[in-house]
Amino acid sequence: MLQQTQVATVIPYFQRFMQSFPDVEQLAQAHEDEVLGHWSGLGYYARARNLHKCAKIIDTQYQGRFPVIIDEVMDLPGIGRSTAGAILSLALNQVQPILDGNVKRVLSRVYCVEGWAGQTAVSQKLWALAEENTPDETVANYNQAMMDLGATLCIRGKKVQCELCPLQDICQARHAGLVNKFPMSKPRKTLPVKSAVMLLGRNQQQELLIQKRPPSGIWGSLWSLPEFESMEDLEHWLNNHCAYHEQSLQSWSVMRHTFSHYHLDIQPVLVEINAPMNIVMEDQSSVWYKLGAENGLGFPAPIKKLIEILAQI
Ligand code: SF4
Repeated sequence: MLQQTQVATVIPYFQRFMQSFPDVEQLAQAHEDEVLGHWSGLGYYARARNLHKCAKIIDTQYQGRFPVIIDEVMDLPGIGRSTAGAILSLALNQVQPILDGNVKRVLSRVYCVEGWAGQTAVSQKLWALAEENTPDETVANYNQAMMDLGATLCIRGKKVQCELCPLQDICQARHAGLVNKFPMSKPRKTLPVKSAVMLLGRNQQQELLIQKRPPSGIWGSLWSLPEFESMEDLEHWLNNHCAYHEQSLQSWSVMRHTFSHYHLDIQPVLVEINAPMNIVMEDQSSVWYKLGAENGLGFPAPIKKLIEILAQI
């Protein structure tokens, strides 16, 4: 949960999660919807799906015990080399290097590593430095200290606290007065903008038509709104699938949601659908959702916000 997310945000989510799934077996046996419901609002939902898949693998292939061989840990969904190294070094004091964002920043500065860490050659160089520096003993302390150093003193931005840093004597960036040059950032590019029209189809029972998204792609397996490329497509779909008040068709202001690789401009359109509703459910993935009901379904943050607004009017 802490990957890409701050501690203060995570705490209530973590507590609710641990109450519902106190051990690996119970997590493995939970329905994916329930797990995603506990993640709703945290973003980066692949983490929840991977955690759930991990629990299932550990439950079935490892008799409920976490593997202790690095290759087996790295084979688990969502666990890369650094996370595997952190787990095994911190839990078992195995000699494994780590290279999370904080450690990358410290090493980039101490050794003035040129280039962006997302490039293979730069990443290989940083891993080589991480390996060289990892001690044979007390690895857990060393790895934790490196992460803490990057989280507290050798931080991003201008408030780096070199005067308190235990590495100040050997730090090349500090000696060269180039602390702010490292780590070098990714070459900038402007994010493309995509757009989508989303239907807020409400019936007279104050229920909203929602659809489950396919497991892969953005917002995989979460619940969302029926989505269309254009207003024409939405109207065409409405004409073919339901009786609705044309005068009730109401376009809301566009809402921008930014993913790591593009902006999505969402045009929400509210439509009051007549009762008795005669929507033909084309597949099992469409359901009517009672507005204001607490039923633990997982929605992406912008969709959750739209539903909350709709529930008020
Ligand atoms: S001396 Fe400054 S730049 Fe170098 S590792 Fe320490 S805090 Fe980071």
